[in-house]
Amino acid sequence: MKTCLRCQTMMVEGCALTVESARFPVAVAQEDFRGKKVGRLVCAVCPQCGYVELQLADISNEQVQKKLQ
Ligand SMILES: [Zn+2]
Repeated sequence: MKTCLRCQTMMVEGCALTVESARFPVAVAQEDFRGKKVGRLVCAVCPQCGYVELQLADISNEQVQKKLQ
């Protein structure tokens, strides 16, 4: 469980970012948006203050680790 860095409320995890006009998943890419995809982003939302925390979905995955080196 994650707690909000701003107000220490329990966050709602397993959320995803979407683009309003299209349904493309949001991901992290090397250098800029045209770069090689590193991994999928997931987010947690604080229901108290609205703070949103982003995280790579599979940080322990070997393929993701290789792309970060
Ligand atoms: Zn909060």
